[in-house]
Amino acid sequence: MIESSYDCIFCRIVNKQALADIVYEDDLVVGFWDQNPARPIHILIVPREHIATLNDIPKDNYILSHIGQVARIIAEKFKVDQSGYRVFVNVNKGGGQVIFHLHAHLVANKND
Ligand code: 5GP
Ligand code: ZN
Repeated sequence: MIESSYDCIFCRIVNKQALADIVYEDDLVVGFWDQNPARPIHILIVPREHIATLNDIPKDNYILSHIGQVARIIAEKFKVDQSGYRVFVNVNKGGGQVIFHLHAHLVANKND
């Protein structure tokens, strides 16, 4: 049973209780458009499991490695894998984290 929180907007999105523009899904993560894109391409890659911050990833849990693989797949989908893109995780308030459900941002300029 994957832990989730009814009050968490990203849990609600991955459980399809709230709407988002989803671009990628698998057993472990969901990728969807940021509601307020900072770049022409701005996708959030979110574990299905509710992990609050990068600091809370359990030992021997490889979700961040999987997020890296998924970032490449999404970058290929938007044809920015060769031109380039940025993947980052904000950690805690001082790091700019606003939503306390682990997520990676994938941002890029359009390449066409
Ligand atoms: P953070 O600052 O926590 O790393 O990033 C949170 C991001 O989530 C922000 O870029 C914000 O625009 C986005 N966001 C917040 N709430 C929602 C939502 O309900 N739906 C979507 N698609 N994005 C959201
Ligand atoms: Zn959550």
